[in-house]
Amino acid sequence: MSDDTSKRLAILETINRLNAKLRDIKTDQEAFTIIASELKNVTGADYAGIALVEKDDTRLRFVGSVGVPAGNTSIATIEMDASFRKRISEAKHSIAIRFNSQAELPGTVQAIAKVLETDHAILSSILLRGEFLGYLVIGKKEGSGSFGNESEDFLVAIAEDISMVVENVRSSLEVRTAKEETERILALAPVGIFTCDSKGIFTSVNRQMMNIFDLTSEADLIGTSVFELSVISKSGLDALIMSGMEGHEGEKADVHMVPRSDKAFYLHAKVTPIESASGDTQGVLFVAMDITSKVRLQNQLERSYEKLTQTYEELERVTRMKTQFIDVVSHELRTPLTVMRGYIDLVESEYSPKLESKFSSRLKIIKANTDKLYALVESMLDVSRLEKGALQIHLEPVRIDAILSEIVEGRMHDAEIKKQTLQLDIDGRLPLIMADRRRMKDVFSNLVDNALKYTQEGGRIQVSARDEGRMVHVWVKDNGVGIPLEALGKIFDRFHIVTSNDLSHQVDRLGLGLPIAKGIVEAHQGRIWVESQVGKGSVFHVDLPKEPSK
Ligand code: ADP
Repeated sequence: MSDDTSKRLAILETINRLNAKLRDIKTDQEAFTIIASELKNVTGADYAGIALVEKDDTRLRFVGSVGVPAGNTSIATIEMDASFRKRISEAKHSIAIRFNSQAELPGTVQAIAKVLETDHAILSSILLRGEFLGYLVIGKKEGSGSFGNESEDFLVAIAEDISMVVENVRSSLEVRTAKEETERILALAPVGIFTCDSKGIFTSVNRQMMNIFDLTSEADLIGTSVFELSVISKSGLDALIMSGMEGHEGEKADVHMVPRSDKAFYLHAKVTPIESASGDTQGVLFVAMDITSKVRLQNQLERSYEKLTQTYEELERVTRMKTQFIDVVSHELRTPLTVMRGYIDLVESEYSPKLESKFSSRLKIIKANTDKLYALVESMLDVSRLEKGALQIHLEPVRIDAILSEIVEGRMHDAEIKKQTLQLDIDGRLPLIMADRRRMKDVFSNLVDNALKYTQEGGRIQVSARDEGRMVHVWVKDNGVGIPLEALGKIFDRFHIVTSNDLSHQVDRLGLGLPIAKGIVEAHQGRIWVESQVGKGSVFHVDLPKEPSK
């Protein structure tokens, strides 16, 4: 074997040893210390170290060393002077610099000598595909002799190969850091994740997934079969995973998983096949999102909705019963009331002249009260007809101005008693409209009666009407007590009366007039609304189409 061959073999052995030793290292510092100590052993040096260029390319840092005076290397970053950097960057191969063979050392090398505290040292540059990575350094203590030429040759030769080792250390550390980072993220991810291989054997599982499985030791799970885990098969996820293993991507929402009797989850599960570079499915990535609180909320919402529907149906039933009750009572009352009115009329016409005046005035009171009762029964019947949609409307050509003037005239006496001004104000002649005459009288009588009722003595009531093209607009304005804002939307509901106004105790109130008026107006495809201010008065508006379509 030639000298060269045996040198080469020695170097290869060193490199092999290094590679083997570096396989399981955790940090780069550990790796570079191993390289330095191997270097020290094979060269018989007292010191050995490895200094690499920093990222910015202007400084060197000792990344690993052995035998170097304590504390010197940890602080050792060495500025590289420009001429030195130029020389290095132009070098095609590793070159050695022997300290004690040169009188004038470059500044950078002097600085390295200072770190080692010796002049008996050799540096060899480490180049990787022409790029300068740093230096290998070996040194001897003062007085323990100097290196021979063969040491310099060895250092240069090993520097050429060690660049690969440095590169390997760096990239394997980068990969490891990336892997650790990924594992850290997966562990913290707010979703459950596991992977299994092509046979369904767990290969990794994160903390959230362990929590969902209700298991504590990952080690117990890794290496076992996904299909042996009962929570997986019970929740029906085995089929999804199986199809993932056959290469199909799949999703399943609202999976119910019960790892323990007192612990249950709803999951949204997703399976993605993991493919090898050749396209074969080599495993499955399983991701599960915990949607328990969402599903619970949804269930709660559904229950509330059901309850609400029940309550609504109950309310409708009660309303129906109420309408039926009104209907029955009104019908039952109407017949005897009609009979009573007939008898009263008879008594009045037949016997009145012969009756003592005190009896005849009592008869008048009876008649007035019976009429009132009859009107009330009629109103109640109208309300129930409206609710059943059974209000009959007989359309005929009607002069609204004539109806309004008849009503105003008829109420003039009542207004005078209360010293109120009641005025009809119609601009020009109104056209004929198609409407139910009797019902129109009901609507406007009610509005005018209300205006008189809810206006103090001396107040002012004005009834106006105007032709507005397709519609006739009628409005009844008073300067009475007004209606509070919160009641404005309710006064058209049946039996709603406003109790807060000043006159509430003085008038008969039922809360039926406005709902009936609204029902009649709407049956004519018209519109009724109110504007009012407490203490200032109210304006009730009615829009009626001239020709309502039937
Ligand atoms: P009623 O007058 O028999 O109570 P309505 O249905 O005609 O029934 O009216 C409902 C309620 O609306 C009345 O009780 C009253 O509080 C209020 N209201 C109606 N018209 C007026 C008005 N012109 N001014 C003030 N309040 C009114």
